[in-house]
Amino acid sequence: MKLMKSLLVAVLALIAGVATAQTPKKPSAPGKKPPQKAAQQYGCTSYMKAPAVTAAFDTSSGRGLADPYYLWDNGAVLRVKFLSGSSEMKFKVLSYAKEWEQFANVRFEFVESGDADIRVNLDNKGGHNSVIGQLATGVPQDVKTMNLDTTDFKTYESMHGTVMHEFGHALGLLHEHYSPLAGIPWNKELVYKELGQSQGWDKLTVDVNLFQQYSLTYTQGTSYDRKSIMHYPVLARWTTNGYSVPWNNYLSDGDKSLISALYPKGGARSTEKPRFFITDFTSMNFKESADKGGLLIYPSFRIKTQGAEGQVYFTVFFYDENGNPLMDNNDKYNISNVVATYKSFKFQAGKILTANKAAPDDFEMFIPYSELPVTPGTKIKMVFRAILVDGEELKWFFNSTPVNFSLKK
Ligand SMILES: [Zn+2]
Repeated sequence: MKLMKSLLVAVLALIAGVATAQTPKKPSAPGKKPPQKAAQQYGCTSYMKAPAVTAAFDTSSGRGLADPYYLWDNGAVLRVKFLSGSSEMKFKVLSYAKEWEQFANVRFEFVESGDADIRVNLDNKGGHNSVIGQLATGVPQDVKTMNLDTTDFKTYESMHGTVMHEFGHALGLLHEHYSPLAGIPWNKELVYKELGQSQGWDKLTVDVNLFQQYSLTYTQGTSYDRKSIMHYPVLARWTTNGYSVPWNNYLSDGDKSLISALYPKGGARSTEKPRFFITDFTSMNFKESADKGGLLIYPSFRIKTQGAEGQVYFTVFFYDENGNPLMDNNDKYNISNVVATYKSFKFQAGKILTANKAAPDDFEMFIPYSELPVTPGTKIKMVFRAILVDGEELKWFFNSTPVNFSLKK
């Protein structure tokens, strides 16, 4: 396995948690003691939730304000379905979300049944979060891709701001305060303390939600926008120089121009990245082969390729029954020393390909017994992941649920 190590550290960072976005509860007013239970969710949890099985990977590498690898096609019609909620609330969400259509060449089509691209849970719990852009295609159809918590929807402003923010994530936008141009001089210890008390956030959650920074290439050429709907509020006491950002509840001029550039009306995007997505991941069968001396693995999925040509790595990682990665450093069948196998392909855009769908066992992955450092009968787990490589960029775009098994060999 010859994947570069730095590359893989980056992949693993992605695996550990960059992709749903989270909206925190509203913090107390400056000068007041933070309440035990805050009145409104502060921010949102829209990074992709860490999978059930991960190692403790570096999570410091963040990615763009709009992620060009997770955008939908320009002109996309996105089917949106509510999994819950009153008709009054649904109508409001729908009418607010559609404001994006004035500036973006996308359309939200609300549907009552059938498959949907964006699936909204709308009840009185769970805070606010959304999967980023087209990563939603990798989420099973019976699972929500967005959560909206009506307990925060007491005023027009707070509901409008939250709905616009979450649908911004659904279109591929990321948090504005992650901009490398923001330069916010955080008073980190105080922020850890206060959000720990008011939101129950641990240090890592605060780091991921507030302090990470994306690389400059992801700003899409835009400048830092303090008024962006995608910016969290920043209390003056949270910065060393009194810098603050209020609750932004309306699209800023910057939001409008950014989304128009990403989804241009009457033209194509100025640049396209490879955008690959897995759908219909239904199973990962496997069998032991005495002949071949190892484990044969058959993930079943479709892959959709869009945007531009790119390289994909289909990987299977191995863990013990507690979710700790099986480690191996012999430089074969491991990725960043985690036992794994992979197959790599270069794909052009505009394809839909299937694995183990059209014919049984037409896509096989393999790992020899000698590379699995466990004795027969030991319970282990494997996870399928798809990773896009585009030059120096490395984007995780699919992560399966773990498959549990034990080797007989
Ligand atoms: Zn957010």
